[in-house]
Amino acid sequence: KSRFSGVVQGPPDPILNLGVMFRADPHPKKVNLGIGAYRNAELKPEILQCVRKAEEFIYKHPETYTKEYLPLEGYVPFLKEAQKLIFGPDHVALKEGRVCSIQELSGSGSLLISADFMHRLLGINKIYIPNPTWGNHGALIGKALCETEKYTYLGADGLYIDFEGMKKDFLAMPDGSVILLHACAHNPSGVDLNEEQWRELLPIFKKKQHLPYFDCAYQGFATGDLDKDAMAMRLFADEGIEFIICQSLSKNMGLYGERCGAIHIHTVDKETADRVASQVKRIVRATHSVSPCHGAYIASVVLGTPELFELFKEEVKKMAGRLLDMRKKIYDALSKTAPEKNWDHVIYQRGMFSFTGLDSHQVKMLADEYHIYMVSSGRMALTGLNDGNIQYVADSIKAEEV
Ligand code: PMP
Repeated sequence: KSRFSGVVQGPPDPILNLGVMFRADPHPKKVNLGIGAYRNAELKPEILQCVRKAEEFIYKHPETYTKEYLPLEGYVPFLKEAQKLIFGPDHVALKEGRVCSIQELSGSGSLLISADFMHRLLGINKIYIPNPTWGNHGALIGKALCETEKYTYLGADGLYIDFEGMKKDFLAMPDGSVILLHACAHNPSGVDLNEEQWRELLPIFKKKQHLPYFDCAYQGFATGDLDKDAMAMRLFADEGIEFIICQSLSKNMGLYGERCGAIHIHTVDKETADRVASQVKRIVRATHSVSPCHGAYIASVVLGTPELFELFKEEVKKMAGRLLDMRKKIYDALSKTAPEKNWDHVIYQRGMFSFTGLDSHQVKMLADEYHIYMVSSGRMALTGLNDGNIQYVADSIKAEEV
C-alpha cells in the first residue's frame, strides 16, 4: 500500500491542457487558439533577436554574468532597468528612491509573493479581481491566504466594459481595499479602459484609499508601444498614489521559461520603500530563497544597451503589429462569413486575445468537429491565427453559430 494511495487524480489545467489536446490531434487543419504565448506567422515560437544578442554578450562575459546566487532582491541592474520600463526613465519617484523593487519568478511569482506580503504585513485577507480575469489569479492569491472577490468589469453582454458598474463597485468596497487591475491588454477579454476612464478612477482610489494592485503582463502588446502601455501605472505614480505592480517579461521579451519579472512597490518615500523591501525579501527567502539569474541578465543587457533597447522596441512593435493584423483579418472574415452577427467587439479589443462571445458549448463543438481549440470562455488567442487558417476558423465559427 502506498503512502500516496489517498491522493486522488487532480484535474488538468484548463488552459495548459489545450496544448496537450492540440498536440494529440492528428487532423491537418487543426488550429490552436488556446496558447498564451506569441507565435510568428508560421505559428512557431520565436526567440527575439535582442535576446539572442544579449545572450551572446553574456556568454562572452562570464566574469560579470556568473552563475552565483543573486542577492535576495535579485539582480540590481535588471531591477533598475525594469523600473524605468514601467515608470519611464526620468520619473521623480525613481529619482527619490520611493519605489522598491524585488525580482520574482515572472508575473506569477510576483503575484504570489506580493499577495503574501499584503496578507502578512498589511493584514489583507481579500483582494478584488475583475470579472473576468486570468484564470490563475484566484489560485495564486489564494495560496497567499487571501480570498478573492470579483468586481464588475464587463457588462451583461460579456464583451464591452461596464465602467459605471466598475466605479459603483469600487465606491461600495470598504475603504482601503486592494484592487487588482490589468495594466493593459486585459486577459482574457482584450477590453481596456481608455485614458479618460483611468483618470476618472484616480479620485476614487484617493477618496477610498484603495490600494491599486497592477498586473502588468502585456506591456507593449496593447498598442505596440511600451510607453503608451504603461500609461495607467504612470497616471497613478504621477498622482503620488501608493501601489504595487507585478511585472512580467514573459510576453514582451519572450522570456516565458526564464521566469523573469519583478514586484515594484511605489511608496511615499525612500525610508518606507526600504522598510517594505526588507519584508518582501524575507518572504522571498522563505519561499524559494533566491531568484534565477539568466533571464534577469538578458533583460538587463537588452534594456540597458541602447541599440538592443531600440531593437527590443521594434520587435515588440512587430509582434503587436502581427496580432493587430490578425485581429483585423479575423474581424473581416467573420463579418463577411457570418454577417448576421455583429463582430465589432473583436476589432474594439486589444492585445493578445479576443473574447469572441462564443459559449462553452460552441467552444467544445469547435474542438470536436473542427479541431479548433480555445479556452471555454470563448477567448481566442490571436497568435494562433495566420493567413492560412483565418478563413477556416471563420467558416467553422459560422457553422457553429447556425
Ligand atoms: N498575469 C496575466 C494577466 C497573465 O495573462 C499571465 C500569463 N498568462 C500572467 C500574469 C503570468 O505569466 P508569467 O508568470 O509567465 O509572467
